[in-house]
Amino acid sequence: MPDGWSRPLDAEQLADRRTDIDFSIPLRELPRIAPQLARDEGIAKGTVSFERDRGLAVVELAVEAQVSLTCQRCLRPMTWPVAGRARIAIVGDAAAAEGVAPELETVIAPGGQVTVGELVEEELLLALPLVALHAAGEQCGEQSADEPDEVTQKPFAGLAALLKRGP
Ligand SMILES: [Zn+2]
Repeated sequence: MPDGWSRPLDAEQLADRRTDIDFSIPLRELPRIAPQLARDEGIAKGTVSFERDRGLAVVELAVEAQVSLTCQRCLRPMTWPVAGRARIAIVGDAAAAEGVAPELETVIAPGGQVTVGELVEEELLLALPLVALHAAGEQCGEQSADEPDEVTQKPFAGLAALLKRGP
């Protein structure tokens, strides 16, 4: 089932059947993750398990990914590892979301329709840092052989053009 992660699924039905879905999603195909990637690569892998919890459709999500971000200190690519687990209640509207137990995350899915991609993207966004920086012990500011300069300078090329256009 290629691209199964982008198909709308009926959360209620899958919860009743206790369905597990394994996924493998190229990060560049997630619209809110793609703009943050320093390199056009990486895959989010894991499992989404639908079940019923206190009457609600709930998913247990396990996701792992190596996300390539731009270090905001040296502007070179860095890898941000994500290995997360979450329990997410799938509800139909904001009113239903208010009744969800506090230990659960909530996703509002009109008509109970969700895609695996949306759930994974949401979880990745929560796991990414506000400001990406090389960790202590990593080679911040140093160029290694496989990191060509042009890749990391791109973000500023656009900014410089923008500034020139100012008054
Ligand atoms: Zn750095």
